[in-house]
Amino acid sequence: MSNLFKDLKGPLLEEFSSKVSGQLIFPGDAAYDQARKVYNAMIDKRPGMIVKCMDTADVIHAVNFARENKLPVAVRGGGHNGGGLGICDDGLVIDLSGIKFVRVDTEKNTVRVGGGNLWKEVDHATHAFGLAVPAGVVSSTGVGGLTLGGGVGYLARKYGLTIDNLLEADMVLADGSFVTVNKNKHADLFWAIRGGGGNFGIVTSFEFQAHPVATVFGGPTLWPIEKAGEIMEWYHNFIHNAPDELNGFIATLVIPGPPFPTTLHNKQFCGIVWCYAGDLSKADEIFKPVRAMNPVFEMVGPMPYPAIQSLFDGMLPPGLQWYWRADFFNEMGPEIRNIHFRYGSKIPTPLSQMHLYPISGAAARVGKDETPWAYRDAKYAGVIVGVDPDPANANKITEWCKDYWEALHPFSSGGAYLNFMMNEGQDRIKASYKHHYDRLTVIKRKYDPDNFFKINQNILPALASVSGAALKGSM
Ligand SMILES: Cc1cc2nc3c(=O)[nH]c(=O)nc-3n(C[C@H](O)[C@H](O)[C@H](O)COP(=O)(O)OP(=O)(O)OC[C@H]3O[C@@H](n4cnc5c(N)ncnc54)[C@H](O)[C@@H]3O)c2cc1C
Repeated sequence: MSNLFKDLKGPLLEEFSSKVSGQLIFPGDAAYDQARKVYNAMIDKRPGMIVKCMDTADVIHAVNFARENKLPVAVRGGGHNGGGLGICDDGLVIDLSGIKFVRVDTEKNTVRVGGGNLWKEVDHATHAFGLAVPAGVVSSTGVGGLTLGGGVGYLARKYGLTIDNLLEADMVLADGSFVTVNKNKHADLFWAIRGGGGNFGIVTSFEFQAHPVATVFGGPTLWPIEKAGEIMEWYHNFIHNAPDELNGFIATLVIPGPPFPTTLHNKQFCGIVWCYAGDLSKADEIFKPVRAMNPVFEMVGPMPYPAIQSLFDGMLPPGLQWYWRADFFNEMGPEIRNIHFRYGSKIPTPLSQMHLYPISGAAARVGKDETPWAYRDAKYAGVIVGVDPDPANANKITEWCKDYWEALHPFSSGGAYLNFMMNEGQDRIKASYKHHYDRLTVIKRKYDPDNFFKINQNILPALASVSGAALKGSM
């Protein structure tokens, strides 16, 4: 047990334990090592206590207990954050994985989801009604972290980011109070959580707008890495002018193994993973320009929406080493394409990849000040991930990722999608919120003046003198 918790042993801890319905887990307990694991095996943190919350009441008690005893707090949703922001050393982890429920309202096409749900659970529940909520491209990701950071995925060109579909949230704030936020109630806080991450409180339930998406037409197309320049130039001209129903992220990657044919294994490619969420009778027409580019392999066809959402889940189980770097980009000029070819040709391990997600269609039509998500005018949210099961390769994947990023960064828009970043410090956070950062600091001061929620992409509470100017500056 860490020192912080040793001092609390006895009546204080007993009182807390009697209030919460969920389990308390300490170092040395049989459940401890499993409970402290996060998705990225490169993260190895040892909290002083983990509280598995089962409901909002547990969260309120945990927040009060941590505040009254001055304990550092990490909040864990799905545990997928690349930098491991759902866990901490020594402090208290408020684990939301017991707060799971999904209720679909078929009259309003809305979905109410628990603060600890994973996207696959939401996809499963909504699909039964022919509905879907825009999320990411891997279904084991947590609803909490992905939503609060933005949510970029297959439906973004048709229906916007995940935050553009958030209608309401129930939250426990740093002072232990409970609020419901939407566009009419605590509108400043509702604005802040649509991109501001876990900075403002713990969301115990989310309400989303869902959309009629049942079967999509999608999957990967591949070209040899030598054609990366040509394909990226074509893609840049094609995707942003395509109907909103068509989405596809472009990647440099290695084919790691099955289900792909053996002739492709361990070779480098430029690939696009497509998802067309429109009228299926038009799919062949829509894909004509793609096929005209003569991919060496395609596995594109109709599939249930949950199937495309989970296409890569099996390839990317928890417990791999991950190192992330990210930026937004506007351009796809020859120098950028050369860098992609250069680093795409020397991908260090079969699961390491670079992805560019298009920001256009509905995601780009949301006003730049409507949410804190500051790069609506960028063309791509880019991410480079070094991934491998073997800890001995941690340096190799990290170096490749950093080198690739450093070569590309001068051509970037300056900031990154915060959910694709490691723990990279204040300058990167500010660059990623741009003109919204100051307004976020003012809202942070109002709802969390002592920076109780600081294990996240942290927004520092504003000094009193900034408030007026900040609010004017970003409205
Ligand atoms: C394999 C993989 C694929 C991904 N693909 C995509 C993608 O396609 N699109 C995309 O947008 N992102 C994607 N991401 C990034 C993902 O959005 C972030 O990693 C996100 O932080 C994960 O959320 P989580 O709840 O699982 O993480 P956690 O590690 O549990 O939490 C991350 C942060 O969110 C906070 N948080 C989580 N839940 C809550 C809550 N209920 N209330 C308050 N704060 C909370 C935590 O405190 C922490 O600061 C991917 C990540 C991985 C690992």
